[in-house]
This record gives sequence, C-alpha cells and structure tokens, in this order.
Amino acid sequence: KLFSLEPPEDHRICVCVRKRPLNQRETTMKDLDIITIPSDNMVMVHESKQKVDLTRYLENQTFCFDHAFDDKASNELVYQFTAQPLVESIFRKGMATCFAYGQTGSGKTHTMGGTFSGRTQDCSKGIYALVAQDVFHLLKSSTYDKLDLKVYGTFFEIYGGKVYDLLNWKKQLQVLEDGNQQIQVVGLLEKEVCSVKEVLNLVKLGNSRRTSGQTSVNSHSSRSHAVFQIILRSKGNLHGKFSLVDLAGNERGADTARANRKRQLEGAEINKSLLALKECIRALGRNKSHTPFRASKLTQVLRDSFIGQNSSTCMIATISPGMTSCENTLNTLRYANRVK
Ligand code: ADP
Ligand code: MG
Repeated sequence: KLFSLEPPEDHRICVCVRKRPLNQRETTMKDLDIITIPSDNMVMVHESKQKVDLTRYLENQTFCFDHAFDDKASNELVYQFTAQPLVESIFRKGMATCFAYGQTGSGKTHTMGGTFSGRTQDCSKGIYALVAQDVFHLLKSSTYDKLDLKVYGTFFEIYGGKVYDLLNWKKQLQVLEDGNQQIQVVGLLEKEVCSVKEVLNLVKLGNSRRTSGQTSVNSHSSRSHAVFQIILRSKGNLHGKFSLVDLAGNERGADTARANRKRQLEGAEINKSLLALKECIRALGRNKSHTPFRASKLTQVLRDSFIGQNSSTCMIATISPGMTSCENTLNTLRYANRVK
C-alpha cells in the first residue's frame, strides 16, 4: 500500500482541508459544530445554524478540494493523501513542500508535529515523523540504497521577517541571495540523522525552543512560521529536500483591534507573508513568468523548493468546527480555494 499514490502532475498543488473535533472549551460554552464533510472532497459551512432570518439560512457554503478530512481522520490518513505521495520525489532529485495553514488552535501543529499535552509530547504520529519513517524506509530499499545518500534535518523559525535557528539556540540567521539567484540561509545548522528516533529528537529540541505546546493566540509560536526540512545529500551535494511548514496563525480581526503596536506589526508581517505565499503558489500553478518570491522572507527562503521542474507542493488547511470560529474558518477555506 505504501507509495501507491502518484504525485500530482505538473505544478498543480494538492490542497486538502482537515476539520478538528470540538474541544472541551467549545463544548462547555455550547459552541455549535457548523462544519460538515458530506463527501471526501467537500466541506460545507452551515453558517446559518444559529441565525434566525431566512436569508441567512440560505447561505450555507460549499467548497471542493482534493480531499476533505472530518474530525475522525487520523494523522496517518491525512499523511497518505498529502505528504506521502511526494516523499519519493526527493530521492529523484526533487523538492517537496507541505504547508499547514489555518487559524491558531485549528490543528496545524497537531498535524505536523504530533500531539502536545502539557509537558509531554508524542510527535511520533505527526507528519514530520511519518515523512522520516518513509525516507529511511526508501533509503534502505533496493532502488535507492546504491545512491549513497545521507539524511540531514534543519529546523528554523521565521518571526517578524527574521530567521532563527531552532536547532542552534535560536540564533538569528541572515538570508543571502547570490548572483545565480540562489538563496542561502547562512549558517543554518544541518544535523545528520540516521534514524526516525534521531529525527524526532531534532523535532523535540526545536519545539522546546519554540515556546512549545502553547496554543494561546498570543503565544510566540502561533505568530511564527516553523520550517522543518529533511535534506538528502550525495557526497555533500544537495540531492533532494522536503520542507514541512507549520505556518503562523492566519487569524485577524477581533483580537487585532485591541492589540498593542507589537501585535499589530506581527499581524501585518504574517498577512504579508501569507499573501506572498498565495501569490507565489498561484503564479507557479499558472506558469507565470514573474513569481514574487522577494515579497516575504518565507517565500524567499522557500524559493528553491518552489522553482524547478521537479518540485511539488501540498497544503493542509486546518479548520476549527465551531460557530465562534466561523469568520476565520471561512477565511481559511477561501485562501485554500485560491491556491488550488
Ligand atoms: P495550531 O497549531 O493550529 O495552533 P494545535 O495543533 O496546537 O493548533 O491544536 C490545538 C489543540 O487541538 C491541541 O490541543 C491539539 O491536540 C488539538 N487538536 C488539533 N487537531 C486535532 C485533531 N484532528 N484531533 C484531535 N485533537 C486535535
Ligand atoms: Mg501550532
């Protein structure tokens, strides 16, 4: 069953939506679940459930994606339809990228990194770990064991337009562009890894530097993009790279109004980078000549993963089910709809 799915053709991005269950807080406050997944590629928002007048009642909205996962879907299932089909491409000198996009608290980190509860974390079932599992599986397979490849991991954070190395005491790193328009994150630590366990140790180390586990809208981790990469090298040369990106929360509005200046600047920076990401993905999908990579640090550092014949991308848009998250959920669905 492994690797039975073909990667998407050409530059088309695979866009999926994942709904999480109502959490305890939402259940206690009697929030309503307004999201249904009527089929495996459709999402319906029943915005009207609570509304009384009939015009609003007619405003149920339906969105179609490559896949839609309901609140019972496991990380493994989501993985099978998103990142897994791209894993083998990095053994064929490809670049793969998987984004988790959505409101803070909607399940991005749960999907990518695994579960955190209090001080314990189980990252063995997140997409980072699942990619690592398949990478080591393929590395030892008869098709690829002759290539003499080594595996490395990097983990960094982009916050306020600056890059910080999560594997190296949050050291701030410079991003340089050379004459050939190659982007380099100068001094980014690449740790060699020889097993899934070693990959998970990197994830844990990086997460602990990321104000780990906090899901408050104002926590630092929800205001930064985290990029975890698995890199294949052959005799030191780059062979392939898989970037797994846990994006900053896309929420805006209510909390920005009474936010302080710092928060507003953060919010502006996040909006700018998520907009740039959307524009880059759209430009690539349509083979436009100009792709606005320079518009944000996020798109700039991911440039080499986007460009080139052999690159593929998937996005997992995570949504909260509650009526109280309706505006953010609709924003997420519209964004995901635009990049597909
Ligand atoms: P984000 O990273 O988008 O801010 P988290 O991944 O931290 O959100 O999720 C917020 C909370 O909801 C966490 O406690 C997480 O374990 C839980 N959660 C998220 N998605 C799911 C899911 N699909 N099933 C069960 N719990 C989930
Ligand atoms: Mg998170």
